Formats: sequence, structure tokens, C-alpha cells
Amino acid sequence: MTLRQAERRRFRFTGAANQRSVRFSQELQVVCRFDGGVVVRHQVQIQIFRARRKRFPVSVRSVLIGGARWVSAVSCPVAGARSRLCGLFLSRAHGWCVPCWAGCSGRRQAVVTRRRVPGGCHRYRQIVRCWKAFTRRCAEGSSMEQADVLIIGAGASGGVAAGALAQAGFDVLCLEQGQWPDRADYPAQRRTYELEARKQWSGSPNVRGRAADYPVNDVESDVAPLMYAGVGGSMVLYAGDWPRLLPSDFRVRSLDGVADDWPLRYGDLQPFYERTDAAFGVSGAGGDPAYPDGAEPPLPPLPIGAIGARMARAHDRLGWHWWPAAQAVLSAPHQGRRPCVQFGACMQGCPEGAKASTDLTHWPSAVAGGVRLLTGARVSRILMSGNGLATGAEFVRPDGSWHVARAEVVILAANAVGTPRILLNSSSPRYPDGLANSSGLVGRRLMVHPFANVTGYFDEDLTSWRGHVGAKIACYEFYETDTDRGFVRGAKWSLAPTGGPLDAALPSRAGNEVWGPDHHEHIRKHLGRTISWGIFGEDLPDEANRVTTDSALTDSSGIPAPKLNYTVNENSRRLLDFHVARATESLQAAGAYETAAESLMRYSGWHLLGTTRMGTDPATSVVDEYGRSHDVPNLYVMDGSVFVTSGGVNPTSTITALALRAVEHLIEHRREQRVPA
Ligand SMILES: Cc1cc2nc3c(=O)[nH]c(=O)nc-3n(C[C@H](O)[C@H](O)[C@H](O)COP(=O)(O)OP(=O)(O)OC[C@H]3O[C@@H](n4cnc5c(N)ncnc54)[C@H](O)[C@@H]3O)c2cc1C
Ligand code: SF4
Repeated sequence: MTLRQAERRRFRFTGAANQRSVRFSQELQVVCRFDGGVVVRHQVQIQIFRARRKRFPVSVRSVLIGGARWVSAVSCPVAGARSRLCGLFLSRAHGWCVPCWAGCSGRRQAVVTRRRVPGGCHRYRQIVRCWKAFTRRCAEGSSMEQADVLIIGAGASGGVAAGALAQAGFDVLCLEQGQWPDRADYPAQRRTYELEARKQWSGSPNVRGRAADYPVNDVESDVAPLMYAGVGGSMVLYAGDWPRLLPSDFRVRSLDGVADDWPLRYGDLQPFYERTDAAFGVSGAGGDPAYPDGAEPPLPPLPIGAIGARMARAHDRLGWHWWPAAQAVLSAPHQGRRPCVQFGACMQGCPEGAKASTDLTHWPSAVAGGVRLLTGARVSRILMSGNGLATGAEFVRPDGSWHVARAEVVILAANAVGTPRILLNSSSPRYPDGLANSSGLVGRRLMVHPFANVTGYFDEDLTSWRGHVGAKIACYEFYETDTDRGFVRGAKWSLAPTGGPLDAALPSRAGNEVWGPDHHEHIRKHLGRTISWGIFGEDLPDEANRVTTDSALTDSSGIPAPKLNYTVNENSRRLLDFHVARATESLQAAGAYETAAESLMRYSGWHLLGTTRMGTDPATSVVDEYGRSHDVPNLYVMDGSVFVTSGGVNPTSTITALALRAVEHLIEHRREQRVPA
């Protein structure tokens, strides 16, 4: 059902019988209260008639949304059914208004125009006050639709942006398609947790298939995308591995002659990295020789466990780098959150609340600070004014009702698949290739970090099912380019636990499953006795790797789903082969009697990056270094879409640092911000 059909069904027009003559016909904003309690403002063409009955000074005969459709009138949320007309008003630029006449304690009962009220400005101020009271009251019983800033997506970047804007006193509305996660519902405490991880709690929206998820057509993609819909976003399921990009990652064109340099450097981001580390509660050890000097992580490192100690000794013998990995997981109590108990179920939601995600670290204070977070609100498209500015977004609720949220600034934080999907779905006759897409790069240059896994088998029980999942230790030995290897750039290695009994029986990474008489022997060999290096390879951008929309596949609201075309390139394949061979050596040096490798894991699309890249040139980038669209000056992208290159490390530390930098720039330059009239 379209928005217009939904409205037509919901409103009953009651004013026609009272009309006598047309007073004026103008473009107005009309405020409507839906049956479900949601208030919506529309830009409409409206005809105001002088009413016959004195009690109703005006009535609405026709409301032409988009200049074409007839929609019946509105009922006042404050005065209820008593008034059919409320909150009709024009912008200040028009100089006159039709106020909510019965809505605000019945005080505003006149049609106010500049012609009829000589003190028009004074009257206007009264009306503005009246309007504010009206919207406040609406907010008490329903969601609000008007804000200074609209954020789309309540995940990692959305949470950071909302927190900063709330602190700066902005009126913020966030629309999130999912719901608040319920920690009591996380499967870690149930015996079936490993089974549920493969279905209801899978990282793949296609496997989970919840109504809040949108499906992704990944038939033509070498890698399946993984994400989560809800407050906290994909952080609800992420592993909490929290490395930063390295300085060379920002300069691959200058250093290696490939891809592009970023318009900023490591040093520009370092202060923001340090602040997001503090906000998320990062555990780690300062002094990692792979990184420039800087502040110590706020919390001491997590235990590296028997597997970490074993591999660290082996790397010391080899003379290879290793370091306790920085993790967004608490090693000690922090800001009211409990520390990690090394349960090992991080990727199905942390029941302790030790793993940082914005539903724990940012949203509670943002909401307490006045941010309105509307869950179950899926955005279909961005709305635009005639002068090329974003005016808000259209969204749909789980009951199928369609609404509009208006704002002066719109921030997309829906991740590198969700954001291009919204921009491409916002196409119109004026923007036939989608919004903010004059460069043609919206959706292109998708990067996902090709992932390989090497597992070593050991005689001793190393309790390798235990511990935080992100990384015990990390290795950057082969991160930088060495042209003798036959490829450019490199990869970071993360040493992670290898899973519980079910993962031993049905390997989730390298290894085979074994049934029949050898099954118990197989479990004995795997459970607790394996060590696994996860290898995150740098993914060079390629315009052919892209997100488009698939009109044949829709989500539960009927909105076209995203489609991925992604092929792992030759450089990445060589890179993975090289790193698999080195990781095998590493495990053998640690005493593994056997190893197994999976060189490109399909279900490894955790890191979604690059689909609205930043840059200085509008012809070759979608947003500037602060996430502002080159084409639409009040539209921002603050999620992982803005990455220029992928680096070879987990990206969320960088995504959140970039979001903080971008939103603080927006706040600082708010007076120069162009907004719709
Ligand atoms: C299983 C898994 C493990 C991972 N492990 C790690 C790790 O160890 N380290 C690391 O750095 N990263 C990891 N990641 C990646 C990390 O979670 C993401 O990089 C990060 O969450 C991305 O932040 P974001 O703000 O770009 O998007 P997200 O956090 O994905 O948030 C986007 C939000 O937008 C909402 N949204 C999308 N479309 C719409 C719409 N149309 N209307 C309304 N709302 C919408 C979504 O519901 C979602 O809540 C992992 C991810 C997964 C899935
Ligand atoms: S290992 Fe730690 S971070 Fe992971 S689920 Fe358990 S308590 Fe949470």
C-alpha cells in the first residue's frame, strides 16, 4: 500500500458540508494524527474555505499531496474528535499561518493571515508558541516526526552521532527498523546457543529472516553480507575486535600506487580514536610497535588464555609480531557495566553487557538527553525540497502504516548496504540514478575484507572454546606491502577461540564434520584442542563490486531489497594464499600436529564498507571528509560506507571515530549549515 492509499483509508473527511467559498489555495504543511497515534506533517497543496458554521472558522476540502492526490482532513490530537482541523500553517517565509484553532486549549480560534491581523509578526510568534505546545503534547502520547536532525539507523555510527548531537542540545529523531535488544533473550544462557547461532541468531539476515531484517540478494556475491537490525546495530552480534587502521592505510595510492588516498590521515583521527575508546570501554595494552605512540587504552588487556600464550611464545621464537588485541570488551567494571566472564558467546549477543555496543554505551544517555529513538521505523526514501535539500524521510511501521519525518539535517547511518539502498531507492524524475549520486558512485566500491581461516590441532587440552571471541592476540607481521610477494597490501591476523561442542561437530570455520563411529574421536580432537588464526585481508576498491536494488526481492514492507555483486579480486586471492601459508607456519611453530585452512569463507561479510566513499572531488566521491554529501548539502553519511579503502583490520573502531569527527564538525559549523526553508 502506498502512503497516499494509507492516508486515504485512515482519514475521514468531514468539512465539505461547511464550505462556502474558497478563501485561498496555498501550499501548506498539514499535521495529521493517524489512528495509531502517530503524528505526520506533509507538504501539501491545500484549499482553505470559509466555513458556514462559526465554531469551525475554516475547514479543509482538499489536500493534494504531491500536487495530485485527494486526501481527507485531519483530527486534532489534543482536542480529539472535537476539531477536524489542526496545526495548518505556513512557513515563516509565507508570512501568515492558519493555526491550530481548537488544539491548544481552544485559545487560537481565528484564521490568522497578515491581511486580517495587522500585527502579523506578533501573531506569528503566538502561533509558533501554540505550535510548539501542540507538538509537545503530541509527543506525550505518540512519536514525534519533526526534528532538527534525523538519523537513520541506530547502530554503531548512529549511536555515536546521536550521543554528540544530544549533548550539543539538538532536537534529534532516530528511525531504526529493528527493536531494542533484550539481553535476557540472548541465547548464550541456553544449551541450544550454538544451534540458535546457526539460525535465529545467525549473522546473516537471509538466514535469520526476521521481519525487522531486510533480505539481501547475494547470489552474485562471493561473500555473504552479515549484519543485525536493532538498537546497537550489527554491534549486537559483532565480536568486539577493536583495532585501528594503520597510518599506511590512509595512503595506499601514495605508498603502493593502488586505489586512492584518504582525504585525512591517521593523525587526524587519533584524538577521535582515543575518545571513542574511552566511550566504548576498550581493553588493551599500549605500546604496540605496529602503531604510532598514543594514549593507553582505558582498560587493561583481557586474558590471552592458553592459546594466546602458546602462539605468543611461537611468534617470539619466529621473531614475528604479536600483541594483546584491543577489544571493545570490558576487562574490569566500567561505567556501570560488568566485566567479561570469558563465556565465548559474543557473536550471539553478550548477556553480561561486557561487550560494547551502542545500545549499552550511547543510546541510554542519548535518550535520557532527549533524543527520540523510534524503533520499528524502516525508512524507504529520503524526501527532498524543490531547492535540492533533504527535508526528511518516509518510513513505514511494522503495522504497515506509512509516515513522514521532517528534519533540517538528515544523517544516514544504516551501514554500507542499507545506506546506498536508501539513496538508490530515493530516485525520482529529478534524481533518476538515486540521491547524492552525481558521481555515479553510490553503491559502488563495496569492500568486505576477504577472510581466511587456518586451524591447528594440538595434543593438549587448551580449553580453546573459552574466552572473548574477537581476538586474544593480533599479528601485523605481514601487514605492509612487500612487492616480492606478488600482491600489494596485507592482512591482520586475529587469534580467536574455536567454539563449543557443536562447533567441534559442525565446524563453523576450517575443518570437516565427521559422523558415524569416528564422531567421538573427531569431537575429542577438536573440542578445546584447536587454535585458529582469522585472517582479514585488505580489499582494494573495485567499481564493479557494488550494491544495487532488486525490485523483484522486497523486505517485509515491500521496499526493494539490496543486491550485491561482489567478486574477490586476484590481488586478494594471492594475498590470502600467502597469509594462509604463513599462518600455517605459525601454528606449526606452536606445535600443531596438523592444520586445516579455509581460504575464502563465504559467510564472512562482517565488514561492509565503501559504498559512498569520501573525497574532495565531487566527480570521484559521494561525500566529503566529514560525511557531507557533495550533492545535497544537508545530507550526511556517517557509517562504514564512507571508507575510501578498507585497510586490513576490523573497521568499527574507525567507523565510530569517523562518525564522532563528522558529527562534531557538523555541530561546530551548524551556523553555516544550509537547511530547507
Ligand atoms: C557477526 C558480526 C561480527 C562482527 N565482528 C566485528 C568485530 O569483531 N570488529 C569490528 O570492528 N566489526 C565487526 N563487525 C562489523 C560491525 O558490527 C560493523 O562494522 C558496525 O556495526 C557497522 O556500523 P554502522 O553504523 O555502519 O552500521 P550498523 O551497526 O550495521 O547499523 C546500521 C543500523 O541501521 C539500521 N537500518 C538499516 N536500514 C534501515 C532503514 N531503511 N530504516 C531504518 N533503519 C535502518 C539497521 O537496522 C541497523 O541497526 C561484525 C559484524 C557482524 C555482523
Ligand atoms: S566472552 Fe565476554 S564479551 Fe563475550 S559474551 Fe561472554 S562476557 Fe560477553
